[in-house]
Amino acid sequence: MIKVRSLKKTYGRVQALRGLDMEVPAGAVYGFIGQNGAGKTTTLRILAGLLVPDGGTAEVAGLEIGSHPRALREVVGYMPDFFGVYDDLRVGEYLLFYAAAYGIRGPRAFKLRDDLLELVELGEKREAFVDTLSRGMQQRLCLARALIHDPRVLLLDEPASGLDPLARVEMREILKELSKLGKTILISSHILSELADLCTHVGMITEGRLVRQGPLAELLNGTPVQTIILRCHGPAEAAEKLLAGWPGVEVLRSLPGQVEFRLAGGAAQAAELLKELVLRGVPVTHFAQEDQSLEDTFVQLAREGGLNG
Ligand code: ATP
Repeated sequence: MIKVRSLKKTYGRVQALRGLDMEVPAGAVYGFIGQNGAGKTTTLRILAGLLVPDGGTAEVAGLEIGSHPRALREVVGYMPDFFGVYDDLRVGEYLLFYAAAYGIRGPRAFKLRDDLLELVELGEKREAFVDTLSRGMQQRLCLARALIHDPRVLLLDEPASGLDPLARVEMREILKELSKLGKTILISSHILSELADLCTHVGMITEGRLVRQGPLAELLNGTPVQTIILRCHGPAEAAEKLLAGWPGVEVLRSLPGQVEFRLAGGAAQAAELLKELVLRGVPVTHFAQEDQSLEDTFVQLAREGGLNG
């Protein structure tokens, strides 16, 4: 649905994008992860047709960026990371204003306004002034605005930034709903954990290049280091001794009867180590891989030099 090839963008002497390649399949919820200044906003603005790249190509729903600006506007809904302040405009009026910008007026616009306010749970705020809304409410209104023309592709720039934990959960639930409706969603974020249970795919950008991308499960499982928690009946000294001399092991934490460690390699290496522990008479009661969070993966990639971080 979105294809980006060798995208480049320079601001003066700053190279914001240095040959970015990215592919977002139709129907995906794609987490676009990177540190501040990595180039996320620049990418999203180019995909939304708001910024012209210096090189490379980008395509959204088969439309080459730059060649079909009107058609692109129909397909894409863009939610910027910054919500402008609108004095003297009520929530309902705000949406009607944007509907009119897309040529939607009259009863159709009123219905759309009410449906969208319901979707983003702002129905009761229809007559409130926009600048009296909380940050979370403003973000949701901004999302409703991006949905006004029923776009197939949503480009959301840090939709949860500045939100409290409850507001984040609410935003996540709305995005899940939108995903169920079949939208392709590209979400940028530098907060990894908020994307972990939402995304189907993840791409990691650093210094204007994509360093990893793929289905979330693949990215999490394909990592060559695992964290294992070992528990044994009684003291863990014998286990600690073995682990200390075992290649590819880094002990993270030792507690009475429990050791947490990293092990290089996959399931075969874990099975080999477990066998040796048992052969040496360590009374193992638990030996299991910790679920690797997105955060862990990111930190690990950074350590491997794939990311700056
Ligand atoms: P953040 O998470 O902080 O929003 P980002 O990943 O979205 O960061 P961009 O906003 O795309 O990153 O910025 C990429 C680089 O380009 C940064 O070094 C930034 O300072 C620079 N940059 C962005 N916009 C401009 C501009 N208008 N003029 C000059 N430099 C810019």
